[in-house]
Amino acid sequence: MGDVARPYPRPDRDTTPFWEAQNRHELVFQRCKQCEAVRYPVGPLCPRCRSFDFDWVVSGGRGTVHSYTVVHHQAHPAFPVPYTVVLAEMDEGPRVIAQLRTPPDGRCEIGMPVRVEWEDHPHQSLPVFVPDEDRGST
Ligand SMILES: [Zn+2]
Repeated sequence: MGDVARPYPRPDRDTTPFWEAQNRHELVFQRCKQCEAVRYPVGPLCPRCRSFDFDWVVSGGRGTVHSYTVVHHQAHPAFPVPYTVVLAEMDEGPRVIAQLRTPPDGRCEIGMPVRVEWEDHPHQSLPVFVPDEDRGST
């Protein structure tokens, strides 16, 4: 699937634990130790209370489609079109962007339950969403 040319994340001081968790097939969020706000994407301080103290929580990997788009214009050779990109609101609160592995009927709609699955690439596992049949459609 064009893996050679695919761009990958570049972990830094703040994001390395996040990317390492993904290689264990864990989607993690930061949780503020002061106000308990769960946040994503990864950042050094709490946007609500400005605390630098946090720990990591493992997401249950389930959410619902908040918005989505179907990409028809190929912007990178590693990502053949068409594909669907979902902004999912996770059960823990944060909204996460990832590709949707489209069901056979190609359907995606706002409010659709989704869950995370993992694609293992040479150095980095990455999340994709799939329809969550266990929770059915809304
Ligand atoms: Zn906070």
